[in-house]
This record gives sequence, structure tokens and C-alpha cells, in this order.
Amino acid sequence: MSDKSERPMRPDPIQRIDTQFFWDACARGEFVAQKCEPCNKLWHPPRPICPDCHSMEKSEAKLSGKGKVLSWARQIRPASFLFAESPWIILVELDEGLRMLSNLESENPPEFGMRVTVDFAQTSGGKAVPVFRPEGSA
Ligand SMILES: [Zn+2]
Repeated sequence: MSDKSERPMRPDPIQRIDTQFFWDACARGEFVAQKCEPCNKLWHPPRPICPDCHSMEKSEAKLSGKGKVLSWARQIRPASFLFAESPWIILVELDEGLRMLSNLESENPPEFGMRVTVDFAQTSGGKAVPVFRPEGSA
């Protein structure tokens, strides 16, 4: 978990019935995705049915939290209200093959192919959202 001495300002994620398991896992410091029981496909973001075989039989699979930067952008406008943590927006390909958008928590800009590890940024209501750090950084 991120260790910030000041109270986090980032707002809580918007939770729906299909995403509740993901945000609950993040609050516990766990990084998970949905897994289809019949075909074993992993998917993210959360949704009620498998995008491949349309089965509704699913479970949670714990992810390694490791991946590489496929693309990135720097936010050059002032940060949105309550989102001042990082100017770096990254597209990560996780080692499990899933892709997700997130923030890179780093003083230095990302590089294409750079290895990253998930961490969790605390939110103002006691929840957490996944962010990434360069692999090997504290
Ligand atoms: Zn499936």
C-alpha cells in the first residue's frame, strides 16, 4: 500500500454490483480479475459474462500485479479536482495478458516496455485503487 502521511484526497471508486468484488479486493491489497470457469479466460474490466463464450459462471483469479508499459501519456492540463497524485497515465499489459489503464507513481516518465508492479492508492473514504510503480522501486 502507498504510504502517504497526509490524508488521501482521491475519491472512492464508483462501485456497482458487477465491480464490487474488484474494489473490495483492492481495499484488501489484492489484485484480481474475473475468470471464466468453462473456458478459463481472464478478463478486465469486470462484467457479468465472459466476453468469449458468454458464460455467466465465473470466479476471481489473483493476478501477479506485474506487467509492462505498452503506452503512456502525460497529463498536461491541471489535474482534475482531487486527482493530483500523478501526471503519468499508462496502458499496462499484465503478465497474464490483460490490459488496463492506470497511473504510474513515479518522479520519472515511463518508457515503452518498462516493467511495473501494482500498488494501491488509498482513497478518501478508506477504499483503494490500483496504481503502478516501476518494478523494484519501494
Ligand atoms: Zn468463457
